[in-house]
Amino acid sequence: MREITLSCQTFTITSVSSTTPREAVNIVLETVIVQSLWAIASIVIVEMVRDAYHIASHLWAPLQTLHNWHHRAYKKDFTPISAELYSKAQLYNDVPESLAMMGVMALMALLWQPGLWVGCLYGAGFLGGAIARSQGWLLTTDLTHEPGPLREIPGLWRVNRSYHWKHHFDNVNAYYAGHFTFLDKLMGTALSLKNKTVAVTGASGTLGQAMLVELARQGAKPIAITTSPEAHFPEALRVLTWQPGQEAELQAALRKVDILIINHGINVHGDRTPEAIARSLQVNSLSVLALMDAFLATVDTPTGAATKELWVNTSEAEVGPAFSPLYEVSKRLTGDLITLKRQDAPCTIRKLILGPFKSNLNPIGVMSAPWVAKAIVAIAKRDVRNIIVTINPLTYLAFPIKETAQSWYFRLFSKASQR
Ligand SMILES: [Zn+2]
Ligand SMILES: [Zn+2]
Repeated sequence: MREITLSCQTFTITSVSSTTPREAVNIVLETVIVQSLWAIASIVIVEMVRDAYHIASHLWAPLQTLHNWHHRAYKKDFTPISAELYSKAQLYNDVPESLAMMGVMALMALLWQPGLWVGCLYGAGFLGGAIARSQGWLLTTDLTHEPGPLREIPGLWRVNRSYHWKHHFDNVNAYYAGHFTFLDKLMGTALSLKNKTVAVTGASGTLGQAMLVELARQGAKPIAITTSPEAHFPEALRVLTWQPGQEAELQAALRKVDILIINHGINVHGDRTPEAIARSLQVNSLSVLALMDAFLATVDTPTGAATKELWVNTSEAEVGPAFSPLYEVSKRLTGDLITLKRQDAPCTIRKLILGPFKSNLNPIGVMSAPWVAKAIVAIAKRDVRNIIVTINPLTYLAFPIKETAQSWYFRLFSKASQR
């Protein structure tokens, strides 16, 4: 209760709480700020609803029937098969999808936070777009299905054409995300290895062999690339032999490879003779660079930017001691060159930052090669571009700092290629 004195009379207002005007303003301000935050969050939530609806559309028959119209509407370069099919795809897939987005957000807004109405409004925008496109209007708003060759590499956090193209034509059971890629990262569907031709160098080594096994387990078609013709591989496995300095000879074979994993390397340990220096640079740096260039030159197809990938095992030696100076020097050079090349790479390049694992060369390694291979693949399926697998906690801290700082430095002080 508040007492208000006006002239000589005293009124008692019983319906007003004991809040002072300043407190009232604070409450209003706080409500506006909190609900604005919910409004922003609602965009992320409504996109999650869209992704969940999309996943359900691939799993639940009634929705599958509607969603099939969407998958039937486009040719491989995203041009519509026909105006009629495109219109039906909008009406039977996009309209119910946006209604589901609006419905869920309206319910959440009513029962929980009013700021979530913004998500409902966002869904209404999708509904309007879908109805307009079904009539042949506003076709340019269909951003992720814009026709033409794929020039960008798949988006890391946000879905772009290359990312969504993979859902249509690479693997319909992956790449479900509509705008943010969180759910795919969570589910391990941000990269599918199924039916991918994946070539691995250093294939006769402990990790190379473990990678070949893990890739096959993921449904990929592995190819072993080795400098040891005498090495034993399973009968059915395709094996290519090469020698450092002869990388260009592999180019024809690399044209048919979707993912090249450059995993070979030598460790001369404490040797610092001129021969050891030359050999370390030749195997760990120059041959890697030449192989990278040979592979990147094959990313010249209309869909190569989306489907091709290069993974390079630069090792933890990029940011930490390996107690082998020439191993560190040569691996750091390779790592730095990859950071430079990534500025305008025509396809995704991943670094494998691995700690010591048990192998013929390192019998006291803590991690086992099959476990490391499994971890690499599990992380790659979350579309992580710098795959760190080590027991050294400092690497998880030092590597991202080094990579980010160096990447910015290279961006500022080097020029884009004339690709
Ligand atoms: Zn689509
Ligand atoms: Zn789909």
